[in-house]
Amino acid sequence: MSARVLVVDDIEQNRKLLSDKLKNEYFHVITAVDGEDGVEKALAEEPDVILMDIMMPKLNGIDACRKLKNDPRTEHIPIVLVTALNEREDRLRGLGAGADDFLTKPVSDLHLLSRVRALTKYKMVADELRKREASGKRMGAVDIVNSGRASEPARILVVDENERQARRICRYLEGLHRPISHVEAGQLGISGSMVDLMIVSLSNEKLDGLRLCAYFRSLESTRDLPILVVAEPDDEKKAVRALDLGASDIVIKPIDSEELCARVKTQVRKKRYLDALRARLDQSMELAVTDQLTGLHNRRYMRVQLESFLNRSLMGGGPVSILLCDIDHFKRVNDIHGHAAGDDVLREFGRRLSENIRPADLACRYGGEEFVVIMPDTSQALAQAAGERLRQIISDEGFRINRGDELRVTMSGGVSTVAPEDTIDVLLKRADDALYRAKSSGRNRVEMELLGVA
Ligand code: GH3
Ligand code: MG
Ligand code: MG
Repeated sequence: MSARVLVVDDIEQNRKLLSDKLKNEYFHVITAVDGEDGVEKALAEEPDVILMDIMMPKLNGIDACRKLKNDPRTEHIPIVLVTALNEREDRLRGLGAGADDFLTKPVSDLHLLSRVRALTKYKMVADELRKREASGKRMGAVDIVNSGRASEPARILVVDENERQARRICRYLEGLHRPISHVEAGQLGISGSMVDLMIVSLSNEKLDGLRLCAYFRSLESTRDLPILVVAEPDDEKKAVRALDLGASDIVIKPIDSEELCARVKTQVRKKRYLDALRARLDQSMELAVTDQLTGLHNRRYMRVQLESFLNRSLMGGGPVSILLCDIDHFKRVNDIHGHAAGDDVLREFGRRLSENIRPADLACRYGGEEFVVIMPDTSQALAQAAGERLRQIISDEGFRINRGDELRVTMSGGVSTVAPEDTIDVLLKRADDALYRAKSSGRNRVEMELLGVA
């Protein structure tokens, strides 16, 4: 997987060194010569990953990082701080400023490439979600920091067969999070899909860490679950393999408790960012297809669905029928009992429709007091029977309005069934004509389209 990487360093030699390593692996590299330049290039070039030196003139790496992470246009771009050896304080400050990771100079090829790859994967997922959302409406900042979720303790599953080490990891995390060892989790029936993060030791014998990484990545419910692997200092190969298999980050033994906490925090923040994007996307998709008053599908969604059922039918699938319903004298309900009572009737009408159709049928609010039921694989005779049954379900029992009185409500309906060369508008028109006849012959009845009459 190739990606665009922005390398920010004030020393030309360093820029060249990192650029060459990345270019060798076919990454596209952009460079910037100080923190300010880095922020500008990040805005202009929209890289997938940023590698940032810390000690730089004008704006140092940590401040530049903070600036980028506080800007909704760049907050989603992963930043790796590149630090000199033993600058432990810098690294912790950097993670505090929102950096996603850090690399120590001199940068090993293995670490560089595996980290950049892992972060690129994350960025691709975030990009995809952002893009889908942007196509629906304008993109705003995902305010997870203020949503309260960001500071909540995370549920962390520690999978380490060495019980002493498992306990130690749990102890390190206890003040901030809710860690649980896999032994306890097993007793309680807690699984990977129920936690926010997993820490897996690569030294496990039975619960092979690499196998676990691959397994959890392949499951739908845990595909985005961050996995932090704990590796032996002399087993770099295995650690890199873990990253390739989908682990999110590595901690090398002996475990530094502050570093562990900082890395956990970063992973949890990213997971919550993706969760927030996903939830918002689900919500906006839900809004786009649902009628707010009744909770039924809306007209737009109905048309899209009907189009595809119709096409399937015309290409040799089963017949699709529709029932167009219209509440009788609904204007009077509003006029006599008020608009709120009218809304009560519409909600109850929608509920009765959706609870009395087959699972494959779709009930939609077509507009005002008109509803459409799409019935796939349904002949005209069956659709007529369904329409008649629904008519009775509406008229037989009163509708409660304004939390008190019951009101008699009836509906009229028109049924039509797919015919060769139909379009959805033609199909709807025939149902509408049938509905018109139901109205003019006295209401509270369901009519079929007239066969042979266009
Ligand atoms: P008919 O039997 O011929 O269908 O008569 P009708 O009164 O039901 O039909 P008409 O089309 O004259 O009136 C429909 C009314 O539905 C008018 C409109 O104000 C009302 N209406 C449409 N949408 C809503 C809504 O969301 N809530 C409420 N309370 N009323 C609505
Ligand atoms: Mg009406
Ligand atoms: Mg009407």
